[in-house]
Amino acid sequence: MNADLHCHSAVSDGWLTPAEVVRRARANGAELLALTDHDEVGGVAEAAAEAAALGLGFVGGVEISVSWGDETLHVVGLGVDAENPALCAGLAQVRSGRLARAGQMAAALEQVGLRGVLEGARRFARNPDMIGRAHFARHLVASGVARDVHSVFDHYLSRGKPGFVAHQWATLAEAVGWIRGAGGVAVVAHPARYHRMSATELDKFFNAFIAEGGEGVEVVAGAHTTDEMLRFASLARRKGLLASRGSDFHGPDESVVDVGRCNPLPPDLAPVWSRWNKLLMGVE
Ligand code: AMP
Ligand code: MN
Ligand code: MN
Ligand code: MN
Repeated sequence: MNADLHCHSAVSDGWLTPAEVVRRARANGAELLALTDHDEVGGVAEAAAEAAALGLGFVGGVEISVSWGDETLHVVGLGVDAENPALCAGLAQVRSGRLARAGQMAAALEQVGLRGVLEGARRFARNPDMIGRAHFARHLVASGVARDVHSVFDHYLSRGKPGFVAHQWATLAEAVGWIRGAGGVAVVAHPARYHRMSATELDKFFNAFIAEGGEGVEVVAGAHTTDEMLRFASLARRKGLLASRGSDFHGPDESVVDVGRCNPLPPDLAPVWSRWNKLLMGVE
């Protein structure tokens, strides 16, 4: 099954509309897709309609920003009902802090001589509610401050850099609770990306995640090397987690892995899509 269960549209910090993401996934050979915008399910209905028109399997999704101690981690919810009131209210609450954070980021960047960054970033955010670091990065690239978004993060937006502002996101219990309450499966996104956490801390996080009702881990992720994929495949086996697979596609010129073009999962793992029947996914 060519599944891609992690990607973004312009409803959060992707470049394409939800329908464009679905068409691109289909053209790239995807058979099952989940749209997982950051803290937002506003693109799911459009994506679901386009997927149905194309005969592409689709489940609703979201990627929730979580604060755990002073770490930020991402939890993907798959197979969620995008109209679930508690999920929508919870996500609205998470998003509500973004505008103030953006103002603080712009003020911090002004301290290092970068002016007008909030207005610039806003032009890249098609959903005003969902302004994030990727929009800042795109503006700073467009204005010639850095050559690509990765170097903006390295010099300005990552923790310890001048534009970084610590923020309180959802708690782990809230994120997993909202996802499960909306009928979804909670999955730890791109686990190799949490560089600041030791192996022991990451293990503690996974135990807490499972204790809250989390059930899956991204084994294949756009940002994972083969070694990282193998490391988290063995974690999935050890902890009895379902395995997920996603590109984390944001846009054609920005993402290493295109939507619908993920590497396969090791065949002995239980894929997260074993949870959904074919009828639900719209696959004949
Ligand atoms: P935010 O939720 O506003 O903190 O933004 C997080 C988003 O920034 C991620 O989902 C990525 O789209 C982007 N991002 C984070 N770190 C990097 C990086 N090192 N290079 C490029 N994009 C990044
Ligand atoms: Mn993003
Ligand atoms: Mn993420
Ligand atoms: Mn993502």
